[in-house]
Amino acid sequence: MSIDFSHIPSSIKEKSNGELTTAIFIFKAVRYKWLVCFGQAVLPYVLWVPGIKCLLRKTVFKHFCGGETLDETKKIIQNLAHHNVKAISDYSAEQSGTQEKQEETRKNILQSIKFAAQQKNVPFACVKITGICARPLLEKVSRQEPLSGREQQAYEEFTGRLDALCGAAAGEGKKIFIDAEETWINPAIHEAAERMMAKYNREKHVVYTTIQFYTTDSPAYLQRLIDTAPYKVALKLVRGAYHEQENERALKMGYPTPILPNKEAVDRNYDEGLRVCIKNLGRVSFCAATHNTGSIELLMKLMKEHGVEADSDIVSFSQLYGMRDNLTYELAGNGYNVSKYIPYGPLKETLPYLIRRAQENAGISEQMGDELQILLREKQARKTIVK
Ligand SMILES: Cc1cc2nc3c(=O)[nH]c(=O)nc-3n(C[C@H](O)[C@H](O)[C@H](O)COP(=O)(O)OP(=O)(O)OC[C@H]3O[C@@H](n4cnc5c(N)ncnc54)[C@H](O)[C@@H]3O)c2cc1C
Repeated sequence: MSIDFSHIPSSIKEKSNGELTTAIFIFKAVRYKWLVCFGQAVLPYVLWVPGIKCLLRKTVFKHFCGGETLDETKKIIQNLAHHNVKAISDYSAEQSGTQEKQEETRKNILQSIKFAAQQKNVPFACVKITGICARPLLEKVSRQEPLSGREQQAYEEFTGRLDALCGAAAGEGKKIFIDAEETWINPAIHEAAERMMAKYNREKHVVYTTIQFYTTDSPAYLQRLIDTAPYKVALKLVRGAYHEQENERALKMGYPTPILPNKEAVDRNYDEGLRVCIKNLGRVSFCAATHNTGSIELLMKLMKEHGVEADSDIVSFSQLYGMRDNLTYELAGNGYNVSKYIPYGPLKETLPYLIRRAQENAGISEQMGDELQILLREKQARKTIVK
């Protein structure tokens, strides 16, 4: 079945004129790489300046985040349900310096799981490991260095937190995504995710680990899981959100970059990942977390060839809130199992997430071009009606 993704989605049609103008402003602004770099460098230090928080709250935060609290996301989730779109509440705190902060994040994610349990259209919870474990510790575990007694204790506390979250999701009959992050902490993240899959995925796909297909070793990792994991393999497939930081760090520290050399290679690798997963369906369940129209069309074709129903529980699609609603709404309208990741949390703590969204679209912006075009078409349509 081929779908026309060029329709203006109802989420954009429902925007007020002010919201539409703000969205156009945001997507025009992030095309300037220097502006994004400037924002990234300066914003964390000027949040206290009167008016800055308010400005961010009314613009980028409002566009890309569901709110500061779970309660604030409710209306969005209900509206998505109305359009047959599922939702994933994503508590987006990534600054986990202290144990207290990590505990607070665990509590917030637990709350999101309890909330999911009450909502029909919230099938997944998700966890970003750097929210519940300190980065230096994840780096050390990833380098396979011996831990001191205190570090070992902190690591056990972290695995306890993760286990509590995965156990809660399993108990509520929900699934949980474990996000992937930078390659220098991913070995620890993957290992923790594999332990959770081994514990909770004996009969059902409950815990989903994430594979970033911009990494050179992703095909081997995928194959290893499929060939050797003694449990049901559940995967979120992404291209990866940190390629610039990855390349910069590799250059600075003098090791070969773990990232594929260009976008075309990443696209080919991602699409091959989809093919491998669909061939192993049943043993594998997966979510194509992407805004790439080509990959989405390929997966729809593969599903058809392999006789997988559009609303299959074990193959799904997901996009981020505030991005590519034309894909999400069209997939949902055609009966596909599709969700929106809805980040929420205190503005200060969602800043790294917001900066990433701007960064990944700065400069290249082919996708953002599509996004902007749709917004401009809606603006034009409104002008025409007024005339
Ligand atoms: C629901 C959802 C969940 C996500 N979860 C995670 C997660 O857990 N971890 C994570 O890292 N990301 C995550 N992401 C972000 C994701 O990795 C991508 O950054 C984002 O979706 C853009 O990629 P795309 O597949 O949508 O397609 P496109 O917009 O077609 O591709 C953009 C991507 O291509 C890659 N790319 C572009 N140029 C180059 C280049 N020169 N060299 C190498 N690679 C390049 C990058 O990965 C870039 O993000 C998630 C995205 C979604 C939609």
